Amino acid sequence: MTTHGHKKLRILIVASEVIPYAKTGGLADVAGALPKALLHQEPHTEVAVVMPKYGTIPDGKWGLKTRLTGLAVPMGMGEVYCDVLEGSTANGKAKVYFIHNSRYFDRDELYGTAEGDFGDNAERFAFFSRAVLEMLHRLDWFPDIIHCNDWQTGLIPLYLKKFYRDDPKLKGKYSGVRTLFTIHNLAYQGLFPKWVLPMTGIGWEDFGSNGLEFYDQVNYLKAGLVFSDALSTVSETYANEIQEPEMGNGLDGVLQDRGDDLYGIVNGVDYEDWDPATDKDIPARYTAATVVRKEESKKLLLTGQNLPYQEGVPVFGIVSRLSDQKGLDLISEIIEPFLSMDVRFVVLGTGDQRYHYLLEGMRTRFAHKLGVNFKFDNRLAKLIYAGSDLFLMPSRFEPCGLGQLISMKFGTIPIVRKTGGLADTIEDLSPDGKKGTGFMFEDYSGAELLGALKRAVDAFHQPKVWKAMVQRAMAQDFSWDASAKKYLELYHLILNKP
Ligand code: ADP
Repeated sequence: MTTHGHKKLRILIVASEVIPYAKTGGLADVAGALPKALLHQEPHTEVAVVMPKYGTIPDGKWGLKTRLTGLAVPMGMGEVYCDVLEGSTANGKAKVYFIHNSRYFDRDELYGTAEGDFGDNAERFAFFSRAVLEMLHRLDWFPDIIHCNDWQTGLIPLYLKKFYRDDPKLKGKYSGVRTLFTIHNLAYQGLFPKWVLPMTGIGWEDFGSNGLEFYDQVNYLKAGLVFSDALSTVSETYANEIQEPEMGNGLDGVLQDRGDDLYGIVNGVDYEDWDPATDKDIPARYTAATVVRKEESKKLLLTGQNLPYQEGVPVFGIVSRLSDQKGLDLISEIIEPFLSMDVRFVVLGTGDQRYHYLLEGMRTRFAHKLGVNFKFDNRLAKLIYAGSDLFLMPSRFEPCGLGQLISMKFGTIPIVRKTGGLADTIEDLSPDGKKGTGFMFEDYSGAELLGALKRAVDAFHQPKVWKAMVQRAMAQDFSWDASAKKYLELYHLILNKP
């Protein structure tokens, strides 16, 4: 093996969502921003990305070109075919390949609807994973590292080891390919009944405790954890937390076994996309020096929500998936005393039906203080980041979290629970008010959240403390540079492993 020290590194990032093409959460931000960041650090790297082509990605709009047709993908039930389209990212410097199979991916949603996950997700993402590996052969382009992300890509390391690395017919073309598997959220594992296994083409010999079996079910994420050459997750705290039973989602043992190969690299923010100084979606652009102009966004935000604007009244915002993870149950627990204070509160999110009902109910009771929006809307998200004074993120767990980083850039102070990436990126306001970038509470309890909210409102009403805090938050640098350097180091480390 070469040491790869001087060789041009080839990286293939595989993800089920990538901005600007498809997004439901932070994974898309990461997969979209990482190529650019890697190329910025090491311009000689070759970076490509691959994702499914969903029904929501019109070829025309993005100028996608057909790159491969009739790509045969071996599945348990026989060959299934797809085309591969090609687009680009990172200002045209990285290719994006789209796996195009209408039956699996020509839908308006990525993984399911509000009623639940699609019934054929096991098949969709087994197909996607295998198609990625087949595509390389047809493109005659073999990366040094396949950087897999989350359960949708979990079978890739297994398929690679079983069917590609050592197959003599493939003449060693895949033998140098290594895998990194990144966990963006351990709570989503791709768990399916074991009868899906024959469909994947994987034999029962790999359905064991050392394989992808998990309490007698098939677990795609576990396949990634077990068969990849190295693992990473998106903050150091989360990397430690998931090796403990409380946060391990049943996989803490597996993660402990692989503890020496598990790294924590915090996500960056792409400040080309997230910057109030250049943002066209907000009514008045601003920097730290002109942060008073946030007020324009605030007025527009509240008008749009039918809430009365009043100078000196703090506005709280949320942009989030509405799931148990994000602390919605805590918020509902304390919403009454919270909204009894002189505040405004704007929520944007989609997710569990029961949180929709719950928030809907609260709005009727607090019509002049609360605005709720059940949709995915990038523009409204920007307006909330810009037009709020405080951003709520009381997560039960949080692998990294982007909302708190984005909000700091917009001069909006995050209120977070001390967990995962939130603990790594936010500093609690010190008692003398001279240090800190947010408000942090430790126990997952309504009382502690309410305490943090009260402290936040108090601080908001002390202009000197508040202004200095906003300046500190805006000066934080979570750009991708440092994180991209760490990923490059990790890629090299994987390639230099015996
Ligand atoms: P997660 O990936 O767990 O959902 P993150 O904080 O890592 O959470 O990333 C969430 C990303 O998705 C952020 O960029 C946030 O602004 C965005 N987002 C979440 N919900 C919405 C929504 N309803 N509309 C627009 N953007 C959203």
